[in-house]
Amino acid sequence: MLAAYMHELSMASNIIDIAIHEAKKRNATSVIEVNLVVGKYSMLGLEQLCYCYDLLVKDTLLKNSKLNMEHEDGKIHCDKCKYKGPIPLKEELEYHIIFPTLVCPKCGNPAEIISGRDCYIKSLRVKK
Ligand SMILES: [Zn+2]
Repeated sequence: MLAAYMHELSMASNIIDIAIHEAKKRNATSVIEVNLVVGKYSMLGLEQLCYCYDLLVKDTLLKNSKLNMEHEDGKIHCDKCKYKGPIPLKEELEYHIIFPTLVCPKCGNPAEIISGRDCYIKSLRVKK
């Protein structure tokens, strides 16, 4: 079952490593809350991430801590016309689906995702 969660498992493990490192730097005895920012395009399953997190925090400074997640919208940048903004969503009427496009809405050039793909710790609440 866990094999299907490899991406979330390694992300949860990274988050915990960083949180423990930060907590030790501040001489904390435990971590109460971890505030996480998850990009909409990070391809992470939030439920799976929570599951892996709960599994991995046992016997660490993060035991019984709360994992708060906040979504971050994606942004693109166009090299040609310097447009910077939200990822345009294109609606495929025939199939009734909406999907993000990586095309600049101003000039039609292929654009690059500059945010929304990452997952990182925004802040930590620790107990000393
Ligand atoms: Zn452009």
